[in-house]
Amino acid sequence: MINKKMENAINQQIKHELFSSYLYLSMSAYFEADGWEGMAHWMRAQSNEELKHAMKFYKHITEREGRVELFSLDKPQMEWNSPMDAFKAALEHEKFITKSIYDLLELALEEKDYPSQLLLHWFIEEQVEEEASASKIVADLEKIGDSKGAIYMLDHQLGKRE
Ligand code: MG
Repeated sequence: MINKKMENAINQQIKHELFSSYLYLSMSAYFEADGWEGMAHWMRAQSNEELKHAMKFYKHITEREGRVELFSLDKPQMEWNSPMDAFKAALEHEKFITKSIYDLLELALEEKDYPSQLLLHWFIEEQVEEEASASKIVADLEKIGDSKGAIYMLDHQLGKRE
């Protein structure tokens, strides 16, 4: 059975993951409105991924006879200045998530909660990927600068995400 302290901390993380899903869906809508279909597709896929993260924590709590508690989500930002602005915000958000995962692992170590430690190791690896993929897109956008044609090509490429 999961202890109350760990259960509460993981419930907070479920909220963070659901907010990530919400934020990326909002970015998807922004890209859609701006005519960047590929980036909208990429963000929608990212939003779905975040929902899976939330459910992974959800399952962990229920399997260990804990109680899932869902909290209110803030309204996500709706507008960004450019694709670069949005992807930079996504990268910053992932860094915040990484920090929250590290804090959770610290707690799991203190509490000697071995199953949670194992789950969090998976998330630590996942966060390396999440930051790397957002970072790669920011770097590509930096190289591209104001070239509309190159942004169009990147948009096309991001639209191919599975
Ligand atoms: Mg996540």
